[in-house]
Amino acid sequence: MPKNPPTSIDTGDFPPEEFQLRANELVKWIADYLGHPERYPVLPPLVPGETRAALPASPPDEGEGLRTILDGFERDIVPRLTHWNHPGFLAYFANTASVPGILGELLATALNTNAMLWRTGPAAAELEQLTTDWVRQLIGLQPGWFGIITDLASTSTLYALAAARESDPTLEIRRKGLAGRNLPALRVYCSDQAHTSVHKAAITLGIGSDNVVNVESDAEFRMRPDALERAIATDRAAGHRPIAIVGVLGTTSTTSVDPLDAIADIAAREKLWFHVDAAYAGVAGAVPEMRHHFAGVDRADSLVINPHKWLFTPMDCSVLLIKRPDILKRAFSLVASYLETAEQDSVVNYMDYGFQLGHRFRALKLWMVIRAFGARGIADRIRHHCALATEFADWVRAEPGWTVEAPHPFSVVCFRHDAPGTLEESNAHNSRIMDRVNASGEVFLSHTVLKGRYVIRVAIGNLRTERSHLERAWQLLRTAAGTPEPAAD
Ligand code: PLP
Repeated sequence: MPKNPPTSIDTGDFPPEEFQLRANELVKWIADYLGHPERYPVLPPLVPGETRAALPASPPDEGEGLRTILDGFERDIVPRLTHWNHPGFLAYFANTASVPGILGELLATALNTNAMLWRTGPAAAELEQLTTDWVRQLIGLQPGWFGIITDLASTSTLYALAAARESDPTLEIRRKGLAGRNLPALRVYCSDQAHTSVHKAAITLGIGSDNVVNVESDAEFRMRPDALERAIATDRAAGHRPIAIVGVLGTTSTTSVDPLDAIADIAAREKLWFHVDAAYAGVAGAVPEMRHHFAGVDRADSLVINPHKWLFTPMDCSVLLIKRPDILKRAFSLVASYLETAEQDSVVNYMDYGFQLGHRFRALKLWMVIRAFGARGIADRIRHHCALATEFADWVRAEPGWTVEAPHPFSVVCFRHDAPGTLEESNAHNSRIMDRVNASGEVFLSHTVLKGRYVIRVAIGNLRTERSHLERAWQLLRTAAGTPEPAAD
């Protein structure tokens, strides 16, 4: 230690003038990137480890200039990314970082607000309540829901199931935990098509993945209410304790919609928490003619919808709507003395509604996106994506040798190409088709497996995807299907 440490040191951060200069350069770069979204291959041809090998293994001793860092970003990072902004991105659930969303994220970062308490971000906390209520209105739900924005649907569903677990206070799980006690197994029900986030929530909450009952789905991949009722009755007879049902509005594989109204009846009769996973398709509620899918949702206890999937908001942004925030608060609130405030009983302190203390200002970008598009603008884009999907499915149906493998209520189509031989051989054939198409760098498709059948998915959700991109994808697919198979070794 030096004898006389300096009494001050310059911040090491860049002065506002330098920020302005570099930010202007960067904004120009981003505008150009957004204006030419096909400049880079959507899926870069890389082998694992390539990026790391191209970068220095240790941090620099001396700070580097921003220009140098930005050059490195452009040279070493950008070409090695999968470009979710590319209009040929048709994999998983395609999404969009829209301009208002990008600007909102930039502002939230600059403000660096941590809205853990109302007083640490009064406008952030209130904007979150307002914006989540806008989402509720947008998708046509009745008043009476409380909203919280989390990072991901996985977190939102975890919170919903934590509340479900807490809704029976006689179990005293919050205080005593689950282990070493003579408690019945807690059971959660969802269809065999539900997202693994339900299982991960059960794992995290100590419920256990064996206690997530995968209820059989029907030929159109929707939960069978009769099978659900039977599963609950069997569990009760075995001494288990059913606590929650998760219905899905837009499953990950096919976007099927569970019979939510019938499930709501069962949940009411059985006094179970009813959570709806509308992570992807929830925004379809903005389209009046699609609201029929939402029958029963108003009777749910909680619902998750991800604006970062189909509501043009950059990662990450998941909205959890819940009817009984008091139960969520009972599950999680733990106020250290240094976080007590005079107003705590009359405000929303978001730290009380989850396991995290800090709370990002995600509401800002969502508020800006909804304002910029408007309810009608959002509905028009969702409707357009669904129309494109219908058109694509029509092309597939019209082509001999190809089949559409599931209904497509929204903007995702599942299909495959016939091939002679066993199921395994035809599955491998479709997997090869997809790999060949993806190697083009022009489009990126993903797959799923439906009742043992490998199917290719086209998911439309990027604002810049046009019919021409789907035409190209379809052309690449047909060419790939016609390519001779590689000779066996
Ligand atoms: N629920 C559904 C229906 C999904 O399709 C997904 C992801 O695609 C999730 C939940 C998980 O979403 P997240 O990545 O936001 O946790």
